[in-house]
Amino acid sequence: MLTGSTRAAGVIGSPIRHSLSPAIFNAAFAAAGLDWAYLAFEVPDGAARLAMAGMRALGLEGLSVTMPHKAAVIDGLDGLSDDAAALGAVNCITNRGGVLHGDNTDGAGFIDALRVDEGIEVHGARCAIVGAGGAGRAVARALGQAGAASIAVINRTPAPAQRAVGLAGPRARIGGADDVRSADLVVNATPLGMGVVVSTAGEPEPMPLDVSQLGSDQVVIDLVYHPPVTPLLAEARRQGLRTVNGLGMLIHQAAHAFRLWTNEEPPLEAMSAAAVAGLSVR
Ligand code: NAP
Repeated sequence: MLTGSTRAAGVIGSPIRHSLSPAIFNAAFAAAGLDWAYLAFEVPDGAARLAMAGMRALGLEGLSVTMPHKAAVIDGLDGLSDDAAALGAVNCITNRGGVLHGDNTDGAGFIDALRVDEGIEVHGARCAIVGAGGAGRAVARALGQAGAASIAVINRTPAPAQRAVGLAGPRARIGGADDVRSADLVVNATPLGMGVVVSTAGEPEPMPLDVSQLGSDQVVIDLVYHPPVTPLLAEARRQGLRTVNGLGMLIHQAAHAFRLWTNEEPPLEAMSAAAVAGLSVR
């Protein structure tokens, strides 16, 4: 039951009504026995600073941040983590007694999803990332920090790829089709496949890379989680490859926010179950 002492958190973005975050965090607070509540706030483009002032005035304990505010909120914050500063993007704000601190938990969420959920160690792995937007850059940086042997970034536009390479460190480079063929871990960080139900009518499906070139010892990771099996993952599975979708990353980036806000260990199973239930009614 919500009371006068319930602590409040939420997510800002636009559009925001589709967000799974309220389901994930409210399930987490309930499972952890915390008197907290989490709401989705539709904040229009250009209003990030107002939202930061609102966070201070209302004493919100934490805010998740999604499109289009990940860069714009930075001006309204008092401090940033190294990851958020390097990426120029914040997805999680913690209110430390009136001091607003910005983090970016996407990269850590990606690594945890592989290590914790899949038992995949990225240290020493050869990696290829297709896509170099906000998510691709966070993944590139996290793979560099986690000790990947090599990180090849492939993107249709050169400048974002170069930026991702710069963030990932000395073992990163601009890549091509050969890197995708030789990688241990192949990551789709483009939105291609998002919202696409795998066709049964033989229509061409949007593919970020040529799966027929891959070998059965490669792991294909799609950051997209809706649908849970994208055309890329369906084709990779048909060829006997191991596949991972983006749901684990979504849960684990939220788990990092939960830790930052509450100083408690997140109830991962409850968070996952809430996300799956939320996706099933879409
Ligand atoms: P973004 O910043 O808009 O970047 C999109 C990237 O995809 C860019 O590199 C873009 O290339 C490339 N791209 C877009 N359309 C393309 C096309 N038709 N052909 C080839 N490349 C294309 O988006 P983002 O925030 O990085 O998100 C990317 C995906 O990751 C989305 O599907 C998002 O839902 C997912 N995601 C998942 C999680 C999770 O927790 N699982 C977290 C964040 C994001 P250009 O540079 O050439 O435009």
